[in-house]
This record gives sequence, structure tokens and C-alpha cells, in this order.
Amino acid sequence: MLYQSTRDKSLKVSAAYAVAQGISKDGGLFIPESIPSVSLEDIKNLGEMSYGERAVFVFSKFFTDFSEAEIRYCVDGAYNARNFDSESIMELAHLFNGRYMLELWHGPTCAFKDMALQILPYFLTTSVKKLGIDKKVVILVATSGDTGKAALEGFKDVPGTEILVFYPVDGVSAMQKLQMTTQEGENVSVCAIKGNFDDAQTGVKKIFTDPEIAKKLDENGMMFSSANSINWGRLAPQIVYYVSAYAQLVQDGEITLGEKINICVPTGNFGNILAAYYAKRMGVPINKLICASNSNNVLTDFINTGIYDRNRRFYTTISPSMDILISSNLERLLYILSDGDDEYIRKLYAELAQTGRFEVSDGIKEQLLCDFAAGFCSDDETKAAIKETYDKYSYTMDTHTAVAVKVCDDYAAKTNDGLKTVIASTASPYKFSASVLEALDKLPESTDEFSLTDALNEASSMPVPNALSSLKNKEIRFKGAVDKSQMAEAVFGFLNIK
Ligand SMILES: *Cc1c(COP(=O)(O)O)cnc(C)c1O
Repeated sequence: MLYQSTRDKSLKVSAAYAVAQGISKDGGLFIPESIPSVSLEDIKNLGEMSYGERAVFVFSKFFTDFSEAEIRYCVDGAYNARNFDSESIMELAHLFNGRYMLELWHGPTCAFKDMALQILPYFLTTSVKKLGIDKKVVILVATSGDTGKAALEGFKDVPGTEILVFYPVDGVSAMQKLQMTTQEGENVSVCAIKGNFDDAQTGVKKIFTDPEIAKKLDENGMMFSSANSINWGRLAPQIVYYVSAYAQLVQDGEITLGEKINICVPTGNFGNILAAYYAKRMGVPINKLICASNSNNVLTDFINTGIYDRNRRFYTTISPSMDILISSNLERLLYILSDGDDEYIRKLYAELAQTGRFEVSDGIKEQLLCDFAAGFCSDDETKAAIKETYDKYSYTMDTHTAVAVKVCDDYAAKTNDGLKTVIASTASPYKFSASVLEALDKLPESTDEFSLTDALNEASSMPVPNALSSLKNKEIRFKGAVDKSQMAEAVFGFLNIK
């Protein structure tokens, strides 16, 4: 399996190269040249395996340049009881007949990003070794809150790596900020930027593709890579849990082998839902991929009209990890839907850079509506969904997951398709305690993070994740904030190079 760039298909590289490099030098994203398949027979067999075994099966289709031993080394290092508080790594909570919450937040930072970021450092260090590269790998991350912490945890003290995370100063929850600013490890740094997530992501992408900066790093024996979902090493692990969820439902007798289900994903950068799309294209019986957005509904409009237009107000919402107007991974979907027309992708993205807008062809519009449905909801609707689910099913969910539940309810009411649905539950409610408690009308007087945690514990009877309660006694290590124009300087400062 080789990988192409979405902006230059003549480029063909190995999986190891795609992971080590992170993003293609032409600004495009690496993408597998074809989509491998899984049969119903495979899915049936996967039902009897552990999560790790399922992961090995899926990865062996994408990382064909890795030996089975290498894949197993990566999988075993990531998906184990040290890192996850669930033996099955992901949990499927049965909300009511036909609706399943795919809980992806049982890892060390309590968000779904752990599913990929626990394994990415293994993929990356293995790739660098395989390629015979003798350089220190510098990971730059732009985060809307959850990726940053998950990447820091994944990469802390990994030999041969340094990691620097940029987050929008007012764009993350108090708990997310505390998680990042107290991060331990010798090779880590965290920096707030005065801007929003899109500014952080655009800044990081610019640094990655600046040849002058690359040269400077090279002279110092270093190279950049990315832990954002632009890195294929982030996408592949996310495919695993969709394949795994379907296999599990069959195994549990909740669905019959071959029965179609819907999958609903709370979406920001389009990475998680793109992984579900891959699962569908590989052969998992999926009807619709339901794309759920908050008030930053650029993707809802895109899927419904074929017009992507980021020229709109940016909202700061109670689901901050989805406060995004430039969804990077959409580029991969468009590349697939245009049959790998790199020239077309270059044209669309040049237009986006110039005008903030593009419109896709009628053929692509049709395909979008065939595979996807899309909807969005406001903060008030998000809170109402949390309250309703709590009252009816005694299930406490976070704000991002709640967006998906609301959009899923709307979809079911509109289409009446009667299909069973898996909803990606992307974060522990403890990461967003204040908003969740407010939705439940249980906000305590004292609103410091730990009073909130206690109040949510009382309301939900869910155990407080140790990873969050232990932050109480940790020292704040990172206090700085820089202007968004100063990001490159911050990188040089962190790396101690001029
Ligand atoms: C990152 C994140 C999302 C959005 O996922 P994308 O892959 O960016 O679409 C949704 N919910 C939570 C809790 C997240 O951390």
C-alpha cells in the first residue's frame, strides 16, 4: 500500500514515510492509493478477538511496509490496561434499543484522541527507525483542547522526540487548560496563542511547509512531524474502532451480520467521521454517516449544498473541540470523491485560500448526500439533550457527544429509517463538568474545577477518572501566551535554536 499526496498524486510514499513526514511538502495530505476491504466473514471473526487483535488486523491492511511484529509492538504498547481504564479499550453503552454510545474516552486524557495518540508515538518512532532517519523528531500540535493533552501524554519522554503544543488562549475549557499547563515530561512544552483554533492550525501548517524553517531544523539535526489528524497515523487507528464496534454488536447479538447501521459523529476537523467513512468503504455495513456540528455549522451547509464557505461568524461554544471552520480532513474525502483528481483539489484549495469558499461539482454533491447526512445544534439544544438523556436513561454525557445525540434524534425523526445507530461518544463528561452540570441544573456555588468534579460525581455516580482528579496537586508549568504571528519564534525558543 502506497500513499499519495492529495495535491500531487505522482508522489508515492510508504506508510512509514507518510507517518514520519506528517504532511506532504506540497501542502497536501497523505492518503492511501486504494481502500482495502474487509469481508463479512472477517467481521464475524473479529467479533471474537480482543481490541488489540482487531487493531492488528486493520493496521496490517494499511501499514504493509511494517512487519507483523512491528505492528504488534505498536498495538501492545498502546492498547493495554496501563493506559486505558476499560479492558475492552472502547465501551459500547446500550442507551436504548437501537442506540449505542461508542465510548472512546477510557484512555489517559479522557477524550477519543487517546485512541490514536496512544499509538501514534509507536508508529512514528518505528517509522523513523525503518527509514533510517537519524534526527530528532519535533512534533508541533495545534489543538482545540483535547488533541494537545492527548499528544503530550502520548509523546512525553519518548526518546528522540520533542513536542510543542499551541492552544487558543480563550478557546479551551478550564479542565483542558489545567491538563495541558500541568503536563509533566522533559521533552514537552505548551504555549497559548492569542487567536482561535483556526489561527493555531493555520500557523502550524505554515511552519511545517516553510522551506527556510525546515532547513534550519535540518542543520540542527531535527525534523518536524505532526500529531494532528492531518497525519495518517492518526486516522488509521480511528478506523479500527468503527470496525470493532460493528463486530462487537454482531458478537453481542445486537445486530445480525450484514445489517446496516448508521453512525453519528460529533465533528470538527472531519478526522473522526472520515475514519467512519473509510470503515464504510472497506465494507462495514453502514448506511449513513451522520455529521453533527455545533453552531459552527460550516460542514452541515457543505454536505447539504456542496458549498464550503468559511466566511461566517466564528462561535465559541460549550463544545469547544468542534469550534472549527477549516476542517482539514475534508480534503481527503474530496480527493476520494473526485477519483483522485489532484488538479481539482489544488484548484479548490487555492480558491479556499483566496476567497474562503469553494463549490464542488454536481457529481460530488450527489455522492456526499448518498453517504452522509448532516445537522447542527445550538448550545441550548446541546444542554437540553444532556438533560433529557440523563432524565430518561440515567446516562451522563459530555457536550460534544450531546451535539451528536441531538442531531441523531433530528435525523431519526426526519427519515424514520429505523436503523440502529452508533453514536461516537468523544469525551468523558468530566472534561466539561461546568457545562454538563449547568445542563442538569446542578451547578454548585463554588465553581473551581474540583468542586465541579465532586458535584458531577454526585449527579452521575460515574467514577472520577484518576487522570483528572490527580491534577489537583500538580504545579502549573506553562504560563506563556504569544501573538499568533509569533509562533515560529516560539518554536525556535523551545528548541533552543536561532
Ligand atoms: C476532537 C474532538 C471532536 C472532533 O473530532 P474531529 O476528528 O476533529 O472531527 C469531537 N469531540 C471531542 C471531545 C473532541 O476532542
